[in-house]
Parts: sequence; C-alpha cells; structure tokens
Amino acid sequence: MSAVREHILCVDDEEGILTALRQQLGVRFGKECEISVAQSAKDALELVDELEREGEPLALVIADQIMPGMKGVELLEEINRRSPSTTKILLTGQAGLDAVVAAINRAGLNRYIPKPWDEPDLRLTVEGLLQIFRLHRVNAQLVDHLRTKNIELESWNRELDGKVRERTRALEEANHRLSQLAITDGLTGLYNHRYLREHLALETLRSQRTGLPLGFLMIDVDHFKLYNDRHGHPAGDEILRQLATLLTEERRVNDLVARYGGEEFAILLVDVDKPAALTIAERLRARVAAFPFPHGSLQPGGHLTISVGIAACPADAATAEALLESADAALYRAKKAGRDRVVLVGAVA
Ligand code: GH3
Ligand code: MG
Ligand code: MG
Repeated sequence: MSAVREHILCVDDEEGILTALRQQLGVRFGKECEISVAQSAKDALELVDELEREGEPLALVIADQIMPGMKGVELLEEINRRSPSTTKILLTGQAGLDAVVAAINRAGLNRYIPKPWDEPDLRLTVEGLLQIFRLHRVNAQLVDHLRTKNIELESWNRELDGKVRERTRALEEANHRLSQLAITDGLTGLYNHRYLREHLALETLRSQRTGLPLGFLMIDVDHFKLYNDRHGHPAGDEILRQLATLLTEERRVNDLVARYGGEEFAILLVDVDKPAALTIAERLRARVAAFPFPHGSLQPGGHLTISVGIAACPADAATAEALLESADAALYRAKKAGRDRVVLVGAVA
C-alpha cells in the first residue's frame, strides 16, 4: 500500500479501556498503523476532521456505545457520513441489541464486539477490517484511474470524430469541385461540350417520348479570328467571357447554356418550339449587337456580332445528332447570308 500510515481510532470515555485497546492493538498493528484515542465523540470527530484535512486514511474506528454526550452509534453514523470507507466496530458492555441493529442499518457498522472482549478475537477482527479497508482503497483508486482513462478516451474519441467529420467535409468539397470541373468550361464557367452532349441526348429522348418541343440554338461569333488578330487572344478571351454572361442572363431555369468549343456556344431550350426559340435567339442577337464590347466598333459592320442557327425536336430532327446537324446547317446559312442574323433550319434565310 501507500507510504501514508493508516489510522485506527479508539473512542471510549473510560481511560482504562483506551489504554488496554492501545496496548493490545499496538502490539499487532503498531508498525503499520497509527493508533489514536479519544475520550469523547466530540474529540473523535475533531480528529476525523483533522485526518481528512491532512489527507490521511482513517481505516478503522472502534467506539464505545455508552458515552456522555453523543452515543457510539451516533458517532459511527456521523463518521459513516464523512468517511464511508472507514470500517467501524461498536464496543459495548450493554447488550442493547436494538442499538446494535440500528447501528448496522444506519452507521454502516462492520462488527459488534461485546465487552469484555477476547483479545485474539479483537485482533482477528481488526485484521479482517483492515484488509477490507485496503481493498476498498485499492478499488477506489482503480475506479478513479479508470474514470480518468475513460475521460481521456472520450476526449480522444471526440477529437477523432471531429477529424473524421472535417476530412469527410473536405473530401465532399473536393468531390464537388471535381465534378463541377468535369462539366464546366474553364474559360467561361459555362457547361462544357461533354455535358451539353449528354443533356442533348437525354432531352431529345424526352422530347420524343413526351412530344414536348426542344429548341436548340447554335451560336458562333462573327469574324472572331479578325478580333483576335487585331487585339490579341487575351482580349478575345475576355469577349468570350462577356458573351457567356450575356447568354446566361436571359436563361430560364431549365435552359442549358454551354460552350460548344472555340467561339461557338449552344443553348438547349426545354419545352420551347421553333417560333419561341426564334424570338429568344433574335433577342440575344440584338443584345449582343448592341453591347459595348471593347473594340467592338472596329469589327466589320461596326459591332461585334453573333450568328445563330436554330433547329427543334421533334419538328426538325429525331435524334441529338440530327438536331445538331440541323442547327449547324442553319448557322452555316446565317453566315452565308451575311452574319449577325438568326436562321431557322428549313426556312429561307
Ligand atoms: P466567322 O464569322 O466565319 O465565324 O469567322 P471567324 O473568324 O469567327 O471564324 P474562324 O473559324 O475563321 O475563326 C475562329 C477563331 O476563334 C479562330 C480562333 O483563334 C478563335 N478562337 C477559338 N477559341 C478561342 C479561345 O478560346 N480564345 C480566343 N481568344 N480565341 C479563340
Ligand atoms: Mg467557328
Ligand atoms: Mg466565328
């Protein structure tokens, strides 16, 4: 056990009894325990408090029942409240069984020894109680240790939980960024060619199945090579970005605006038939022609312009490929007819 000496406290109002107890217990336990005596419950409680303050363990109290002032049972009861692990013996000449029973129930009494006592029996009893006390202490220390470890574990657990959550969030963010990158055009932030093709296929099928129209605009910047040649590619890039903004500003929720490639854009208009698509395309063309792009006035015709080819599903095509080809053919005719214009496939430009 620890280096701190355990205490045995004997309480009796008769000095002779205290002397005998001190002597008998001293022979056997004097080396391992400090044996103290008190002549009243009041003195005993003061000693208990002092030990408590000093942090010294009180292993056993042997108390006489009949004392002036506080009775032995009451004293043991009080000690049980202050120091529950202390073992307790009630020693009395009066065979007051009622008091003993009450003490067992209320004071957590370990043993009752009648006066006069048998010395070897007392020693054996004290030995047993010291063992109980020590086991209790070891047990309490183990419980304390386990509790501390448990608290440490819980805190590690919380820390780990936090880290896992943090990593998961970072991973989700990275995944989200990655999937956005996979479908986004780096220069304009619009959907890329691949995403457009996937959606074109899906929407064409849907249009075939439901009979609802699908409008498709193919847009190409007019004389863009000239712009690049005159003002440089970075300036050309800026035009593509500004055009992307203009095209998306007019977009409805279901519409899909994409960069088809180079200086070509495409717009998928869900549930929009050809006449409606024509209105939308014409509005876009006019907006672009009127927009004050940098150096726009130096372009042929005094403005930077776009040409638009329109086709619709199911009116002009049954498949995504056919729809693309139709819109492309219309765009070609718009270029041929002088640019800065919108042409419906099949219509006379
Ligand atoms: P048209 O009116 O017949 O369409 O004439 P155009 O000059 O616009 O057509 P052309 O196909 O001859 O040239 C397209 C130009 O677009 C050439 C190319 O350098 C430019 N271009 C394609 N992609 C980019 C890009 O990402 N950034 C810039 N700055 N220019 C691009
Ligand atoms: Mg082109
Ligand atoms: Mg062009």
